[in-house]
Amino acid sequence: MPILVMKFGGTSVGSLDRIHRAAKRIGREVANGYDVIVIVSAMSGETNKLVGYVEETSPLFDAREYDAVVSSGENVTAGLMALTLQEMDVPARSWQGWQVPVRTTSAHASARIEEIPSDNILAKFSEGMRVAVVAGFQGISPEGRITTLGRGGSDTTAVAFAAAFEAERCDIYTDVDGVYTTDPRITAKARKLDRIAFEEMLELASLGAKVLQTRSVELAMRYNVKLRVLSSFEEPSDEAGTLVCAEEDIVESNVVAGVAYSREEAKLTLTHVEDRPGIAAAIFGPLADAGVNVDMIVQNISDAGTTDMTFSCPVNEVKRAEKALAAAREANEIGFAELIADTEVAKVSIVGIGMRSHAGVAAKMFKTLRDEGINIKVITTSEIKVSVLIDRKYMELAVQALHDAFELDKAA
Ligand code: ASP
Ligand code: MG
Repeated sequence: MPILVMKFGGTSVGSLDRIHRAAKRIGREVANGYDVIVIVSAMSGETNKLVGYVEETSPLFDAREYDAVVSSGENVTAGLMALTLQEMDVPARSWQGWQVPVRTTSAHASARIEEIPSDNILAKFSEGMRVAVVAGFQGISPEGRITTLGRGGSDTTAVAFAAAFEAERCDIYTDVDGVYTTDPRITAKARKLDRIAFEEMLELASLGAKVLQTRSVELAMRYNVKLRVLSSFEEPSDEAGTLVCAEEDIVESNVVAGVAYSREEAKLTLTHVEDRPGIAAAIFGPLADAGVNVDMIVQNISDAGTTDMTFSCPVNEVKRAEKALAAAREANEIGFAELIADTEVAKVSIVGIGMRSHAGVAAKMFKTLRDEGINIKVITTSEIKVSVLIDRKYMELAVQALHDAFELDKAA
């Protein structure tokens, strides 16, 4: 029988009643002829609560015990979901990660899945079981310890199972009804997309459209897993949700698929840095070692042997960046006149695979911002994205203006 993967996020299994509603959807797919692998998250709020317990007990916690504790939320929902299905006469049982086993690296709290053997679950399907309920977010390390995949990791569990079992599709049930052209809280004109390409979703996910864990989209792209994002609170239909798929499966699309933003950004500038080979390595090496996630980087033209170097990072990493740069200066690895931090900036980006074949998209973005009187502080571009750093207070305005300018409220 064909296999379908269905993943239910925290709000979709947030109460016994909701678990029951999810189970009814699963039962419908079983009736449609699928063997179903269900991946469940912890009930909403549970993982945060468990993380809180760990931090309160042991501020410098042992990451292996952190994983032992925070993975447990998923175990509860997996068992409850299997019980609910059994009550509905659907043959089902639960699996914790180690039972499958979901083999991962030993990077506790951010482990990567290495292998998912399918024999165990397939054997049960061939014996007449119809639903395997698997606890998401967790696995087992080569050392035999429980691991977790990082927050939001059950999306990645779901895609990894879909790849390992060559599932027909991976349906991600969440509390939003799909992927939008931008955040509907910023403009009411935001439109749900029927389809979006993996590359576009990847840019939107990493830019802060928090629908899917970024790694799950990377994995789906690598193994060409068709991903559908849909709401568990909407009536089932073939048109429901957004399909995240390969570019070839999209017939028509707008040049720009969406406008993304990231509100909490900061811009740091080092003035009068010596302009010599190795200076970028001397600056960004210590920042990387300090765990600062540097995003955009601009180096100015050299003047009398020195240059200004500007970069952006999340606002809550500014202190760490300042400390790392001060230490590098202290150790005589770098020299600079001043470190200027602007912590009131935001990043706004337009994303679309159509940009590869259309000229003038960036120019249109800049004109739109000019017409709104918004100053651009830093620009970066890639093949399918243009990002600008602007004053945070204009972020909403910029998103709305760009959404209008590229007519994202209209389908292609
Ligand atoms: N429960 C975990 C979390 O909140 C994993 C997930 O739901 O994806 O991060
Ligand atoms: Mg999630």
